[in-house]
Amino acid sequence: MTLTEPVGQQSLKKRLLSALQDGAGHAYLFSGPAGSGRHTFAIAFAKALLCQQPREDGACGQCDACRHFANGIHPDFKQLELVDKEKNIKVERVRQLCADISMQPQRSERKVYLINGDYLNEQGQNALLKSLEEPPGYVVFLMISSGTEKLLPTVLSRLTMLRMQRYSSAELFSILEQSGFVRGEKMQFLVRYANGLPGRALELAGNEKFIQMRQETVDFYLDLPRKSRTELLSSGFSFFDERRDDSGLIFSVMSSLIRDQLLMTAEAENSMLVNQDLLNRLRAALPAHEAEKRLGSCFDSLKEAGRALALNASFEVMICQLLLSLRKELANA
Ligand SMILES: [Zn+2]
Repeated sequence: MTLTEPVGQQSLKKRLLSALQDGAGHAYLFSGPAGSGRHTFAIAFAKALLCQQPREDGACGQCDACRHFANGIHPDFKQLELVDKEKNIKVERVRQLCADISMQPQRSERKVYLINGDYLNEQGQNALLKSLEEPPGYVVFLMISSGTEKLLPTVLSRLTMLRMQRYSSAELFSILEQSGFVRGEKMQFLVRYANGLPGRALELAGNEKFIQMRQETVDFYLDLPRKSRTELLSSGFSFFDERRDDSGLIFSVMSSLIRDQLLMTAEAENSMLVNQDLLNRLRAALPAHEAEKRLGSCFDSLKEAGRALALNASFEVMICQLLLSLRKELANA
């Protein structure tokens, strides 16, 4: 893939192409949420940096280096990603990568390291620091990260920042169509739901279960205020328990429903809402009093629960707490 092939990100493309022509720096940060195209662009840039006869728009796709890259066996390209059940990239693996840096490139004129900064803890970042500060001339680091909060200032100061932009709806439509999906009602929903993130749109478009899961979550959410406390703690909890692997998806559907209801209370235009097929049902389910405050509190509870789950809090305790606080706010007592 050349650098101009992927849809969108015009200013990023310009910066990468001029880096290729005027001489690349030693370390870049592709900053944006998962699904924003950061990995796609980092890979296309890496390939161009390693290409033996780069063209104006990136890698040639024909040379030896390009072929090795495409087959995943280029010896001068290394990735540092989360493996197995790691929560963070082990510092030992960062040290191994740093040891590799001093060895000359084998096939290309450069060596490129692609590192997922979201999973580098402080120790890992410190282990990388020396290499970032004084890399040999042939080394280029490409780091991807959801933001800058988790990165140490000493690391950040070594990186040239490249921010991913949200994609427009038109861009998302063309990305989905390029991947073979057919334009229609489902695609329109996915584009609104993906909120400018092509990775998210593609993942959901390819996920057969998603539409059904969404429907079940909608019914569950709208029925929640009518459930008794006992029902919530039994069948309500079971709803989540039986779909543990998809809890991220359920959370994200619920938060889009609450967000739409919040926008309704603010009298936003319908076109701003994601769940356009549910406008009447969502409106009918608005809390009768203090809707904005109550929905805001639901939104916070959901976010808090999502965070706690990511930190491995007890699933049962967390879900039950969440269900009770949602019911408290949503029941029209
Ligand atoms: Zn090439």
